[in-house]
Amino acid sequence: MTTINNHLSDAILMAYSAATLPEAFSLMVATHISLCDECRARVESFDAVGGAVLEETTVETVKLSGDALAATMALISAGAAEPAAPKPARKASILPAPLQDYVGGDVENIKWRSVGMGVKQAILPTSKAASARLLLIPAGAAMPDHGHKGIEMTMVLQGAFIDDGERFGRGDVEIADSDLDHTPVADIGEDCICLAVTDGPLQFKSLLPKIAQPFLRI
Ligand code: ZN
Ligand code: ZN
Repeated sequence: MTTINNHLSDAILMAYSAATLPEAFSLMVATHISLCDECRARVESFDAVGGAVLEETTVETVKLSGDALAATMALISAGAAEPAAPKPARKASILPAPLQDYVGGDVENIKWRSVGMGVKQAILPTSKAASARLLLIPAGAAMPDHGHKGIEMTMVLQGAFIDDGERFGRGDVEIADSDLDHTPVADIGEDCICLAVTDGPLQFKSLLPKIAQPFLRI
């Protein structure tokens, strides 16, 4: 079990629970909580609060008849008594299930496009409000130096990267905003694969990536 040190904020987990996030950020949360028990528990508690609020408003309008209530209770207790389904044995995947739905499989199904300097990306099909992409940074290589117009969240799926002296491993999320100029460098030993979502186009510092930017949609 890997230890996750860098989590999502309550604000974004709450927005996820309320289903108000753009698709790309929803995908980020779904992917993170599939690896992170801590954030998943927080989402479940927000879901419960949201459900309770919903229930309060419906109970006033819909009065359950005694029979319906008994039937519901019977269903609940039947559900509770059911043994947990055994987990199917399968090889450990790099991409958590929410991402596999977008890619149509695991890492071998990702359609990479070169961004230069060995870095590759694959843009995922999401609504235009925000963008989501997978990034592959070769072991020991750096992401092009860039700033941000909006918020960027980057979560590690394979390998690790180091940014400003901090190490981000599988499941860790780095959150960058317009105040941060950064150059994440992939850890040596393994190529780093990340999921990156952003609500604004990145601003690349050096000329070449800037020219390529409109073509690469990053
Ligand atoms: Zn977490
Ligand atoms: Zn960035």
